[in-house]
Parts: sequence; C-alpha cells; structure tokens
Amino acid sequence: MAKERSTERFDVVVIGAGPGGYATALYGAAAGLDIALVEKDKVGGTCLHRGCIPAKELLETASVYRAVSGAKEFGVLADQPAVDFGVTQARKQKVVDQLYRGLSGLLGARKVTVHEGTGALRPDNVVRVTGGPSGDLELSGDHVVLASGSEPRTIPGFEVDGRLVVTSDELLEIDELPSSAVVVGGGAIGCEFASMLCDLGTTVSVFEALPKILPGCDRDVARVVERSFAKRGIEVKTGVAVKGHTPNGSGRGTTVQYGDGETIDVDLVVVSVGRRPLAGDLGLDATAVVLDEGGHVEVDDRCRTAEPGVYAIGDLIATPQLAHVGFAEGMLVVKDILGEDPLPLDYGKVPWAIYCHPEVAFAGHSEESAKEAGLDVVVSKHRYQSNGRALILGEPDGLVKVIAEKDADGRAGRLLGVHMVGPWVTEQLGQGYLAVNWEATVDEVASLVQPHPTLSELFGETVLSLTGRGLHG
Ligand code: FAD
Repeated sequence: MAKERSTERFDVVVIGAGPGGYATALYGAAAGLDIALVEKDKVGGTCLHRGCIPAKELLETASVYRAVSGAKEFGVLADQPAVDFGVTQARKQKVVDQLYRGLSGLLGARKVTVHEGTGALRPDNVVRVTGGPSGDLELSGDHVVLASGSEPRTIPGFEVDGRLVVTSDELLEIDELPSSAVVVGGGAIGCEFASMLCDLGTTVSVFEALPKILPGCDRDVARVVERSFAKRGIEVKTGVAVKGHTPNGSGRGTTVQYGDGETIDVDLVVVSVGRRPLAGDLGLDATAVVLDEGGHVEVDDRCRTAEPGVYAIGDLIATPQLAHVGFAEGMLVVKDILGEDPLPLDYGKVPWAIYCHPEVAFAGHSEESAKEAGLDVVVSKHRYQSNGRALILGEPDGLVKVIAEKDADGRAGRLLGVHMVGPWVTEQLGQGYLAVNWEATVDEVASLVQPHPTLSELFGETVLSLTGRGLHG
C-alpha cells in the first residue's frame, strides 16, 4: 500500500503543468514564491506534447515539402520530392523532447517542487496527490491553482480507435500518412490538420456543421482560406453534419455518412470538434468550486473560484483555449496573490494565430463583431498580391484588414481590430496586436515607418489608406 507522508506546505500548489500551470509556477517562483506543481503525465501539457508544438512542427514539414515541390518556379530543380514520414515524426519528437528537457530544467532551476501524480482538491486548500512514484502525498497551499486543461471532444457514431477514427491526440502520432481523410470540424485545429495532410499528399475533405469554416474569424479572411483550400483540392463542405461511419471489410478505410444520405469513402476520419475541460479528477465536489453547464470552472475576472484562495486558469475555464491565454492567466493569478491589483485580461483583444496555409492571425474586432457590438466602423483591406516581398516569396494569396472606429468627423480613429491572412502572418501580427491593445489611432500608426520590402509593410499601407491618403493602394 502507498505510504502516506505528512503534509508539505507551499505558498502556491498548482494542479496541472500545461502552459497555464507551468507559467504560474515559473512566474511565481521568479517572484520568490514557494511553489509545488502536480502533474499526472508530463510537464508541458497538451501544448507541448499533443498540441501547439507537435502540430506546428508537422505543419512545417508540410511547408518545406510545398516549397520544394514548387521550387521549379524559381529555377531550382528538385525533381520528385518525397516524404519519409518516419524521419518527419522523429524530427517532431526531437523538437518536443528538447523543449521538454528545457522546461524541466527551468522548473528545477527556479526551485519549483514538481510532484508526479494526480492532484485532487480537498477542503482547506489541501491537494491530495495519488498515483505518483513517491506514494500518496498531501500538499497544503496558501493558494491553489487549478490548471488541469482539456481533452478532445468526440461525437456519437465516431468512436476513437486510433486507426480509422482519430482525434488530434492520435493524429499527431500516426506512423503512416492516409491516402484520404475526412476532417470533421473546420475550426482552427481542423483547418491546420486539413492543410497539413493535403500538403503531404492526402486527399482531404473538411465537413463543418456551421455556415463557414474558422468561426470567429473575419468573413473576408475565412473566404481567402476557403479559396486557397479549393485551389489545392481540399473539399470544404459547410452546413453539413456527419451521421456515422461503417468500416469496410478489409479493416482499411471506412464509409462516412453525412448530410442528406450522402457518403464518402476514406482511410481516416479526424474528429476535430473542440475540446472539453478536464475537471473530473479534481475532486471538486468536496469544495465550493462551481462548474458551469459546459463543465468549465467558474471564475471572476481575476480567475478566482468560489473557494477562497483557489484559482482556475487555462482551458479549464471558459476563456479562449490558447496556450498564451493560459500563460497570461497564470501571471495574472501570481500578481493577484502578491496583492499587486492586476488589471483583468481583455479576452476580446488577445492574439489568435492559425498555422494552416495560408496562415491566419488576428486581434480585436472583426468587421462583423464590431458592427454587432453597435460600433460605427471604417474598414480598409489590402492584398498581398500588391506586396513586393509576397511576390518574391511566391505567396500572393491573402490580405490585411484593419477595422477602425469612425470618429464624429467621419475619419478613422482608434484601431479596433487587425485581421490577416497570408504568408507568415502569425509572425506579423505583433504590431497590429500592439496597436489594438494600446488603443492607438490610425493617425498615430500611419506616422510610423515600415521597413521595405517586407510583408509587414502591408499592415502600414492598410492603416495609411485609412487616413484618406495612401502610397500604393
Ligand atoms: P493543458 O495544456 O491541457 O495542460 C493540463 C495539464 O494538467 C496536463 O499536462 C494534464 O496531464 C494535467 N492534469 C490534468 N488533470 C490533472 C490532475 N488531476 N492532476 C495532475 N495533473 C493533471 N494554442 C495556442 O495558443 N496556439 C496553438 O498553435 C495551438 N495549437 C493547438 C493544436 C492542437 C492540436 C491542440 C489540441 C491544441 C492547440 N492549442 C494551441 C491549444 C493549447 O494547447 C491549449 O490551449 C493549452 O495547452 C491549454 O493549457 P492548459 O495549461 O490550460 O492545459
């Protein structure tokens, strides 16, 4: 039987070592707090082991393959490129392992006490750890942070078997590329997977129940992605629900039923219909912590739960499911614990980055959401086909769209949103994000100088045109 040890005391006990939990631990330890971090699997969480990092690494392989396949256009002859997926997977794992070692080392260097095992909250801010190598433990914290994250949602009729039906967890580990696939769900992760598989040679269809893919994105941006997908042969069906599937006799491939009695035969079904919060193991029944209808822990604007001294952050709460939102919430919690009176996060203005081809990035209002919020807006759009660097790269698809508030004199004032689709926009969003969050005006941003020739000068050009005068457009 596992040996029970006496209760260890900490300033903060964190349950879950994904981006939310490890950010709390690292930032708190940097501020001098004594922190215990409880993790039942591996530090790094979904983001490092089953999410952002492995997904983006495989998307990079897709990008390299696409570049080599198109090299002839530049006069570079690299005939017959092929993918050795074993090498691809090994490289992905090498990147993940290196970051994992780095994170583990950093936690050690900051003197964070990491306990392996499943953490559950008991009354009086005690966390019980079970199933770990050091036997069952009790950790007591002046504060406790719940950061247990989320797991993929599934849908009836599509039992995940890791062979014919996968979620993101299994897809990132496949050892062979399917020749055909249906991606169920056209959100950010679904579009990234569709793009990646298509670039690597899989015939892909995306089925989305809503009227458009990439819900939440500006309509013009989603349209560019849809057009690019269509050009590359990705079939996108919106307003379509899948009903179930029937594996074929050979055990390789299945027939998916969808829409109005229609069917499609594919090797693989990728279910990408969102993620659900993981509160089940946390033992919350014995506490005052409240869950909402969707299973998220309810918190106030400083991530405080109804249980005194207990916070919840990351995918466990109903805020954008993004690693960097978890980082920001972890830091907010530490500041609150330190009595620094932090400002709540403005979730409507956090940056979003989607790494399909073409990439998508945005911060702040889309044109539709600004109008729905009753704001009077002026909008400007500029396309990469008129940008020198984009043509040099051979990546003319895409646009920058800036949404600004219309001032009383009819001129464009404060920037409300910046939405981009095109080459490397995930790396270009920075100045748009800053402008929106700084509440900068069009005139202020337009007076800044952009380097030439860059992709990012299209943002400057788009803002400049909102002053009523432009250079190139
Ligand atoms: P998680 O990362 O889920 O970590 C929670 C941790 O808690 C896990 O390690 C788990 O093992 C542990 N745990 C759970 N319960 C217990 C318990 N009772 N005791 C001990 N430990 C426990 N976000 C982005 O910002 N950018 C991206 O490009 C991006 N791409 C993504 C791609 C994919 C395929 C997926 C699936 C997600 C992606 N995300 C991306 C989302 C991002 O991964 C999550 O938002 C982020 O990981 C959430 O962080 P978290 O700390 O809340 O939870």
